Amino acid sequence: MTNPSTDARLSALYQEVILDHYRRPRNKGALEAPTSHATLRNPLCGDEVDVQVKMSEGRVEDVRFGGQGCSISQASASMMTELVKGRTPEEVHALGERFAAMIRGEPGAASDAALGQARALSGVSRFPTRVRCAMIAWEAMARAVKVEAR
Ligand code: ZN
Repeated sequence: MTNPSTDARLSALYQEVILDHYRRPRNKGALEAPTSHATLRNPLCGDEVDVQVKMSEGRVEDVRFGGQGCSISQASASMMTELVKGRTPEEVHALGERFAAMIRGEPGAASDAALGQARALSGVSRFPTRVRCAMIAWEAMARAVKVEAR
């Protein structure tokens, strides 16, 4: 059971996680020898995320992101980079689908352990105008590994 005070504590905790990734982004910068990259923009909010990947033997060996924008877009990119290393394009795509389900507010998706700290963004589902902010890093990643959204 959840009650309002639990929800409030959870959203405060999630806010901390989001701000931590925004202020101290993980894997931000440029790869020396990326095998591909993709840049996406969200003109509604002014967000830009560029994802660089280095693929090796069919898996993401390394990943970096660059860009600018709101805390949700940049924190989401930082969280995403922590989840995709070592994964195949198919696995990246599947994880992106689970993240998208959470951002759409699908029941149960917010407790998906595979999403790690990215679950801190589950509250975005209550703010439809911010959905794109949360999604662009994942969409750029999908393009970078060349798995088209189905
Ligand atoms: Zn934004």
